[in-house]
Amino acid sequence: MNQPDFPEVIPNWIDGCEVKSSAGETFDKLSPATGKELCRVARSRSADVAQAIEAAMKAFPAWSLQTPVVRGEILMAVTRAIGQHQNDIAAIAAAETGMSFNAASAETDAAIAQGKFMAGEGRRLYGRTTTSAVPNKWAMTVREPLGVAGLIIAANTPIANIAWKVFPALVCGNTAVLKAAEGAPATAWFFGKLARAAGLPPGVLNIVQGFGPEAGAPLVADPRVAVLSFTGSTTVGREIARTAGSRLARVSLELGGKNPLVVCDDADLDPAATWVLRSAFSNAGQRCAAGSRIIVFDAVYDRFRDLLIERTRRLKVGPGNDDDFGPVINAGQLDAVLAAVERARQAGASVLTGGHRLDDPAHASGFYMAPTIIEHASPDAEISVSELFGPVTCLYRVPDFSEALRRANQSPYGLTACIHTRSVHRALEFTRRVQAGVAVVNAGTFGSEPHWPFGGVKFSGNGTREPGTEALDVYSNLKNIILTFDPNHV
Ligand code: ADP
Repeated sequence: MNQPDFPEVIPNWIDGCEVKSSAGETFDKLSPATGKELCRVARSRSADVAQAIEAAMKAFPAWSLQTPVVRGEILMAVTRAIGQHQNDIAAIAAAETGMSFNAASAETDAAIAQGKFMAGEGRRLYGRTTTSAVPNKWAMTVREPLGVAGLIIAANTPIANIAWKVFPALVCGNTAVLKAAEGAPATAWFFGKLARAAGLPPGVLNIVQGFGPEAGAPLVADPRVAVLSFTGSTTVGREIARTAGSRLARVSLELGGKNPLVVCDDADLDPAATWVLRSAFSNAGQRCAAGSRIIVFDAVYDRFRDLLIERTRRLKVGPGNDDDFGPVINAGQLDAVLAAVERARQAGASVLTGGHRLDDPAHASGFYMAPTIIEHASPDAEISVSELFGPVTCLYRVPDFSEALRRANQSPYGLTACIHTRSVHRALEFTRRVQAGVAVVNAGTFGSEPHWPFGGVKFSGNGTREPGTEALDVYSNLKNIILTFDPNHV
């Protein structure tokens, strides 16, 4: 696949037009695979955000009064455009994240599935009818849009992250300002271009490029933004909840995870190892649903550890389709993960494999880290309780099921959790008692589908679920319409 063509400066999309930041500032976006400049990007600040919100406000009356069916049809046209340009999107997402073309293409499939599902909601958006205690009276609930939605996303799976928020926000009749992830500006820009060409009216989706504190924070603070949906770190999510909460805006937070994967003594170890490697290392571990705490029964611990080490050492790291995973998103992220591993080492943990940057000639200029497995980290050590967003996982030895469950729940986070066992009793007891928004049996800690509600408990979120039809609850208000009639007037 050829390197995609980027515009000289990746612009914002405001009111249907590509625009530079008002101050003309830019920042450099580097290729994670080579460390070289990939493109320059509009560095937006509050004036640009205000302009985008203004455009969204202006577009809101017409879009919200459009029938949901028509909105769904337009979103289906956008979805078809994504399908027609799947190779372009995959090439752009691959170039700016360093993931392989095939991985980016698979992620585009997920975005298309999301688009189809949410476009279909245009023909549903169901409410309910209810009876009344009073004769000749009944009520019906209808969904109403909130207004302007502020959507803030991370860079890890760029096109899926965009689809996950934009489609439900728009089908519900909101207009939106999307703050693109600074690590994945071009995918967002290209999405805006496709959406515009596919017939999305100007101002319905505005896209602002830039850094969080400069371009994200003004969106959160603006009283005209009625709902904020955020995917990113718990630290930033808490800040957003605080600011938006003070003006009573609705907030949906999909935050970090430190997701446990339990391997019982009756597990099939080979497939369990396959799922550990995928959960821990695919996308270079840059998933909120990454498997970063592998909790293994004592009876199979040594055998499973050796199997994991052996298979991890065979993983291929690079940007190609034959590689197992690529670089992390930027140098700062790589340094942060390396530093966390170093601190774990100093605190007494052992690095079984990896733990270092890949500095051979094929990797030295990119942001590559060797797949890393750690053991002997204490359950309350920093490495056990903080999300890393890198290819690092920790092993923990436990005697039995109850200790495995206790350890799984011994976390500030509660996003996803997984158990490998042949026992239906263990599986069901685990899914019932594990503190997580998603509980998986005999697979990985990651992987969601458009019609499934995703989100976490504890520090992994604030209780909302997206996507699924549950996302409609994030992006709409219910109005209860009460009707009375008088049979004497028939
Ligand atoms: P990650 O490290 O995965 O990018 P972050 O939570 O740092 O996670 O960032 C996720 C998104 O939130 C990005 O688009 C980023 O620009 C944005 N962001 C960061 N800080 C803020 C902030 N203070 N207010 C609003 N958005 C922010």
